[in-house]
Amino acid sequence: MPANLYVHFPFCRRKCSYCALHSRAGASSAEREAYVARLVTAIGSCQSQAAADVGFSTVYFGGGSPALCDLLPVLDALAPRLAKDCEVTVELHPLDVTVPLLNTLHAGGVNRISMGVQSLDDAILADMGRGYSFAEAERAFALVRERFDNAGIDLIVGYPGETVALSPRHGRLAKWGLRHCSVYSLILEEHSILAHRLRSAAEHPRLPSDDEALNRIAVVSRFLGALGLHRYEISSYAVPGYECRHNLAVWRGEDYLGLGEGAAGRVGLVRTSWENGQARSVRVDAAVDRKERALFRLRTCDGLDIAAFPEWAEPLDAFCAQGLLSRSSTVYRLTERGTEVCDTILAELV
Ligand code: SF4
Repeated sequence: MPANLYVHFPFCRRKCSYCALHSRAGASSAEREAYVARLVTAIGSCQSQAAADVGFSTVYFGGGSPALCDLLPVLDALAPRLAKDCEVTVELHPLDVTVPLLNTLHAGGVNRISMGVQSLDDAILADMGRGYSFAEAERAFALVRERFDNAGIDLIVGYPGETVALSPRHGRLAKWGLRHCSVYSLILEEHSILAHRLRSAAEHPRLPSDDEALNRIAVVSRFLGALGLHRYEISSYAVPGYECRHNLAVWRGEDYLGLGEGAAGRVGLVRTSWENGQARSVRVDAAVDRKERALFRLRTCDGLDIAAFPEWAEPLDAFCAQGLLSRSSTVYRLTERGTEVCDTILAELV
């Protein structure tokens, strides 16, 4: 039975320029209340099939902006199903952060906060449609850190108009007390507002080239390293001991249950996903399942152990020869250059 639970909240204040995720902007409070009620019912009904014995060891509330919903009924419903020392993460938008909310989350058992800052540049934040300035994000994170030791942020690298060099704001960020930072390369989603702007507004800043984008990742990576955050997965950096246990469980091939619109799940051979507004469930065969659970370890600093997959030795040795992987016995790990092409490497093994 899965020890990990992901709960999705698909509500947002407004659509961010780069986003193509399943999310709804401007939902009424009645819609959000009804959604919470459905989640509470779903949690009640999964009691007998999931984690009833030992309880969930990780729970992740993602979105969207989870705090646009009243999270207390969901936390209350989950409380009897949490293992001792369960990691309970909530993603927060900086505009969600208030002292009463943080107190409620803390009292409800939340012990990890991930705040989506996305950029340190006010012009880029405005272009993204995030609705706050760097200074406001800074104040919000300070409030978070007063109550939560385990707190981090997300950043997007490669947004049009961004400079490669570090800015004075990185100096301020260095004092935030980050325990974790996820750094994502911008992916231009075809149906996003940003893609539309790039197609239609001649004066809009252009996307960086691949080399420029990689340089930006390298600069941010070195900056985070200097703050003591090690890169434990392609996009994830943490002070040792503050790695996200939920995401690590997923990358290490454990089962996870997904609840809510837009949530994905993997329980045994069954995969649940959300497509075109509908929940979908498919069964994969055992060989596909074994491969899938093994493959994503390559994203992490654990590396991929191919002891049970000798057929992968030849293609992976070829990547070693190109300097993209290193090998220690049957374990392969990405080199720094390899992190730039991990998806290509994985595609060779599927
Ligand atoms: S990036 Fe997050 S907050 Fe923005 S629209 Fe997408 S899901 Fe909503």
